[in-house]
Amino acid sequence: MRETINGGHCPGLDSGAVGATGLQEAVAARDVMQRVSSYLRVIGHEVLEVQENELYQITDASNQFGADLFVSIHCNAASSSAAQGTETYCYSLGGQGEKLARCIQNQIVNSLGTVDRGVKTANFYVLRNTDCPAVLVEMAFISNPDDEKLLADAGKRDEFARAIARGITDYLQ
Ligand SMILES: [Zn+2]
Repeated sequence: MRETINGGHCPGLDSGAVGATGLQEAVAARDVMQRVSSYLRVIGHEVLEVQENELYQITDASNQFGADLFVSIHCNAASSSAAQGTETYCYSLGGQGEKLARCIQNQIVNSLGTVDRGVKTANFYVLRNTDCPAVLVEMAFISNPDDEKLLADAGKRDEFARAIARGITDYLQ
């Protein structure tokens, strides 16, 4: 089994959203990407880790790799600091992308106890231009103080990573 794991944004070039404490989305996403990838490798999967500023470089690399699944990892942000929780995006409902999104969403919400904002659809570049089932996970809101605490904590990032890896294996069963 081959997976592409993409950390959203790109440290040094595009920080993504930044929390009140200065935590950068790109940095948290990179850490979780690396952790998810190592959990999948342990169980014998081949993983492409990719984090690039240019979105076409991400999808080209994934398609060239021949990924069976694509997971992009992000942190959410909103103008209201009250918004919090986890949501997972797929390109359209009714297919394998939705199934993968539900497996990952359930694992994160159940293990981290984040607010369940559900599975949603979006016309995101990385979902539209990948040749395999693809999802984008918004782990938690970096703009919410409680969620940012989770994202800033290495132990919690490891829980997010394990939940995402379990979501992938749930999907494959
Ligand atoms: Zn993002």
